[in-house]
Amino acid sequence: MKIKSAEFVMSNSDVEKCPKSRLPEYAFIGRSNVGKSSLINMLTGRKSLAKTSGRPGKTQLINHFLINKNWHLVDLPGYGYARVSKSSKKTFQKFITQYFALREQLVSAFVLVDIRHNPQPIDLEFMQWLGENGIPFSIIFTKADKLKPKAIENHIEAYKNVLLETWEDMPNYFVTSSSKTIGKDEVLEYIDSLNANMDWTAL
Ligand code: GDP
Repeated sequence: MKIKSAEFVMSNSDVEKCPKSRLPEYAFIGRSNVGKSSLINMLTGRKSLAKTSGRPGKTQLINHFLINKNWHLVDLPGYGYARVSKSSKKTFQKFITQYFALREQLVSAFVLVDIRHNPQPIDLEFMQWLGENGIPFSIIFTKADKLKPKAIENHIEAYKNVLLETWEDMPNYFVTSSSKTIGKDEVLEYIDSLNANMDWTAL
């Protein structure tokens, strides 16, 4: 898929106020600092569509971007940032939970995971929660330029082993690097194929 246009639509913390249009949407989420803003900028080919985090954990908002005038890319807040207070963690959980519960336009989530780390409980718990709630997702491994191919393989294997303890199949996954532009076409083609298979009457 070629990105012809990418526009910021709105930011808010209330799913009821998200765009009313029935365009299919794809939500990107992961731990703070995982490389989410950089990935969104790589996918859209825009240098600063998503703000790369000066201070992680600060932008606790649902950000909608309209891509090619026919689908929404959603930048969800990063989770698991230590400096966020308990009360704002609760608020965060509430509106994210509501986003996933209420947003019928969501086709798939993308859970971002730093390829350098061993499987982290917070990411695994989040994926478990998505699974239990019937929300389709893929994993996007980020920062692949930081590891050699063999190490990438080992880290993916470690993830597979942990996930296959509770899941029948390994979720769909992508290996990406925003610095080296790796995985861009694969992610965009995947979104394109989901858009093409959409039953528009179901929305
Ligand atoms: P966010 O908090 O998840 O939105 O993460 P950012 O996109 O702001 O990135 C966090 C940090 O990781 C920044 O210092 C980025 O330069 C760095 N980073 C992001 N993506 C990559 C990548 O693909 N490779 C490398 N080496 N660094 C990255």
